[in-house]
Amino acid sequence: ILSEYVSKTQKSKIIFEEAIKYLPLGVSSNYRFFDPYPIYLVKGNGGRVWDVDGNEYIDFILGFGALEVGHANPKIINEVTKALQDSSILGFEYYKTVELAKIISKRYNVDMVRFSSTGTEATMHAIRIARAYTKRKKIIKFEGHYHGSHDQLLININPMVQKDRVPSSLGIPEETLSNTLVAEWNNLESVEKLVKSQSNDICCVIMEPVAMNMGLIPPEKDFLKGIFDLSKEYNFLVIFDEVKTGGKMYSGALGYYNVKPDIILMAKSIAGGFPLSVIAGKREIMELIGPNKVAHGGTFNANPISVIASYVTLTQILTENAFYYMETLSDRLERGYRDIADDLDVDLKVTRWGPSGMIYFSKEVPRNYKELLKTDIPRWFTYFYSMLNSGILPMAGFNEQWTVSVMHTKEEIQKHIEKAYDAVKKAKEE
Ligand code: PMP
Repeated sequence: ILSEYVSKTQKSKIIFEEAIKYLPLGVSSNYRFFDPYPIYLVKGNGGRVWDVDGNEYIDFILGFGALEVGHANPKIINEVTKALQDSSILGFEYYKTVELAKIISKRYNVDMVRFSSTGTEATMHAIRIARAYTKRKKIIKFEGHYHGSHDQLLININPMVQKDRVPSSLGIPEETLSNTLVAEWNNLESVEKLVKSQSNDICCVIMEPVAMNMGLIPPEKDFLKGIFDLSKEYNFLVIFDEVKTGGKMYSGALGYYNVKPDIILMAKSIAGGFPLSVIAGKREIMELIGPNKVAHGGTFNANPISVIASYVTLTQILTENAFYYMETLSDRLERGYRDIADDLDVDLKVTRWGPSGMIYFSKEVPRNYKELLKTDIPRWFTYFYSMLNSGILPMAGFNEQWTVSVMHTKEEIQKHIEKAYDAVKKAKEE
């Protein structure tokens, strides 16, 4: 399989060999690298992308879930091109930002909103706000949940070993990580234990309400309720990191599960492929932001281009009809994989939430990160390279998931399923 990959991607190989002289690993984000070298992309359109070798791929990675509007969506191109005539950064506040804030406030049922550019910045500020509000310092996060590339939450993200505490990067002082406690997803007792043992220190529990950096693992019945109940009893905040989930249902996970977290964070798909993130929450909490109170700043925050892109995305593209369409396509994919598992008599499980879903080579659906590690990951890699060779980017890793866009077609879904049949067959024979 790898030799076929190499023979189809010779130009990527040449670029990689040049790139590693200047860019560590030859890429600008660690997650873009895979063995033996990654593909380098040139352009995208709708549900497709092209690499430097001219290979065409149907793209279900979609910028790590940031592009439900599809590549080069005409509505985005039109509005952003117009906005660009009037400058891409104005320094002081852009007059239309309030319109976007109002739309978000209504759609996601939040009182107040601040904008940054990336998901990382959003989670970083949320932690600061939670600490300021509660005057406590310890954070609880879940193993396998990813909240961006800043020190305080870079622990137990994707440990390949089964240990309780594993920093996910070198260079993070133990003092920093000593304030971050790690619980197990879908295991309320593990949260309860931490909360009870340090009840006066816990400022927040931060989570991906549907875990999407360890495959796709929704919360089990009553798990979220259990955490909200604990938060009331022990006075800590509940933070939903909806950087992925916020754009996967019309009103995000908080709307879907009908709950009211204290702070929510969003980014990725809600801005139609531009850098914009949202920190939002209850008024009394958000009003802590200000001079001599909680710091929040950023040169590119709510720049006109990102604001317009997000405005168009939320008002004209990611409408309720669009979610219905994406759900229909994603449901077809799910059923396609289930049929493949039956036809080939292979242990393959599927989870799905709206436009996204994931497959596992396993007898059981994983409920948490440790269970994900028990699935047959080498088999997943055989499937992955085989999909790549046949022109499908199914998902970005064994801990990621597919996403469909409003620009994918039924024919593209059909093709995904046909190619997946062969890829799963190869993986089974391995
Ligand atoms: N939170 C979640 C849930 C994410 O999936 C990601 C990115 N994959 C981030 C935060 C970080 O976002 P960014 O890459 O924009 O900094």
